[in-house]
Amino acid sequence: MAAETPFSHQTRAAALSSMAAEPVDLLVIGGGITGAGIARDTALRGFRVALVDKGDFGGATSSHSSRLIHGGLRYLEQRDFRLVFEASRERRVLLRIAPHLVRPLPFLFPVYRGARVPAWKLRAGMWLYDVLAAFRNVKSHRWLNPKQVRRAEPALKDRGLTGAALYWDAQTDDARLVLATMRSAARAGALVANYAEATSLLKPDGRVRGAVVRDVLSGETRTVRALVVVNAGGPWVDALRRMDDSAARPLLRLTKGAHVAVPRRRIGHERAITLFSAIDGRVMFVLDAVRVTADDVTYLLRSANAAFPNAHLAANDVVSVWVGLRPLLRQDQAASPSQVSREHRVVESAQGLITIAGGKLTTYRVMARDVADRVAARLHELDGRPIAPRPPTDRLPLPGGEAAELEVVLEAARRAVPDATARHLVASYGSETPAILNLVDRDRGLGEVMAPGRPEIWAEVAHAVEREMALRVQDVLIRRLHLFYEYTEQGTAVAAPVAQRMKKLLGWDEVREAEELVDYFRLVERDRTFRTELRT
Ligand SMILES: Cc1cc2nc3c(=O)[nH]c(=O)nc-3n(C[C@H](O)[C@H](O)[C@H](O)COP(=O)(O)OP(=O)(O)OC[C@H]3O[C@@H](n4cnc5c(N)ncnc54)[C@H](O)[C@@H]3O)c2cc1C
Repeated sequence: MAAETPFSHQTRAAALSSMAAEPVDLLVIGGGITGAGIARDTALRGFRVALVDKGDFGGATSSHSSRLIHGGLRYLEQRDFRLVFEASRERRVLLRIAPHLVRPLPFLFPVYRGARVPAWKLRAGMWLYDVLAAFRNVKSHRWLNPKQVRRAEPALKDRGLTGAALYWDAQTDDARLVLATMRSAARAGALVANYAEATSLLKPDGRVRGAVVRDVLSGETRTVRALVVVNAGGPWVDALRRMDDSAARPLLRLTKGAHVAVPRRRIGHERAITLFSAIDGRVMFVLDAVRVTADDVTYLLRSANAAFPNAHLAANDVVSVWVGLRPLLRQDQAASPSQVSREHRVVESAQGLITIAGGKLTTYRVMARDVADRVAARLHELDGRPIAPRPPTDRLPLPGGEAAELEVVLEAARRAVPDATARHLVASYGSETPAILNLVDRDRGLGEVMAPGRPEIWAEVAHAVEREMALRVQDVLIRRLHLFYEYTEQGTAVAAPVAQRMKKLLGWDEVREAEELVDYFRLVERDRTFRTELRT
């Protein structure tokens, strides 16, 4: 059953001391999904690895995605079959190694007369999508006639409907996927620290040999010496490259992606829907968790209204909005077709800084493997050590991902807590759920729900602090639990009691407790102002 490995502020303090005390083989800058994957792969190869992130793990792009683990249906239009093949394989891998966090999701893709992609083409594309998944997607697609579509999705626009494809992809909890990957890295020996910023690179002899790392919470500065440094800075990749070489050419083109959450009943859809926007034909999703994806809110609401004629969505239906910056490769920097994927690229500067640019959540494991191969080759060149074999990152479950235990764990959880909480716990912690239930056993009060109508229980706050390295109120309410986005008023009702509990667990004084609340309410205010601006 679940091992209760600590992963707390103490783990972080020890990691920071250790990485400063003795040089590491590899320093990874950036703790989003890309950096986490690299730390896991390289630590499993037996390297001495350190990773730092200037904010919380996954706090940037990796917690602002559409949360899809997908084969990339739209790449079929660009005839990028290699990418679809690779992403489909990764979808299968992630469903296997993190079945609690990556779950199959059926999509309905309706087709209308005069659509940019006619029915015959979509049917052919769907067939190809199954072929490229080697017929090992969750299920093969099915074609529905208009009558079946109407029955399946009564709220969907009816006029001109010629049919729909029912196909499968997967959905994840992006922030928790980063965390699980990071914990897996730490279990394999990686020294990891959030809220630790690389402020400059060490170049004693012109080569990049480490970084100055500032503890963002205490202000303390340390020097971390490393044989190899990897830049996994996501949208900050180019800024980090300029620390190495002020004339470095940009690798990235940042594009904005927006999500809007509205109450599910306002749209009335039954399942996730893939659509061409009626405005400009771009692909968008109406997801299970009632989120849509594209570039701006008005566009999203208008597109959704065109697809669901009775919805009449307006700005005051918006519950929350979040925007992310996609760290896409610039066209002139895209890899040649012979390379593994056109979506990501590994480059090495003349001074030895290895940068990984582009990619996506779905393919993070292969991106990490490409970087780890490069690191292994460099370490071999530097000190002649044998090239370590690739670890089985596609088979080792992430923490909580012991698939065989999930049913048993759910049954045990149902005996201890209400059904909705039991399901929520297993969906978040998988086979590690007993670690939470043990806390409840010791203190029944921790089994109480945090807010009426919500499944989260107080034990999760302690768990987040002691075993998920949550250091701030926002770490708990935004990324470990998702109350900021999912609970009314951005979870403000529970912020003070959460801060109080964290104060005890982390030894804060009154000033720190107050600062944490001020910072959290500032984030809430920013979100509210944005939504108010939308309405005016
Ligand atoms: C709107 C949107 C929707 C998306 N939807 C999907 C999807 O459905 N499926 C999918 O597969 N992909 C999706 N993606 C792509 C995916 O989210 C990204 O490719 C991925 O999250 C990038 O991860 P990353 O680790 O490279 O970057 P990030 O998550 O941004 O991590 C980079 C980290 O580097 C840290 N950092 C930067 N500078 C420093 C420094 N000096 N010192 C220390 N740390 C530093 C930052 O704090 C940050 O945490 C989407 C992207 C967006 C924007």
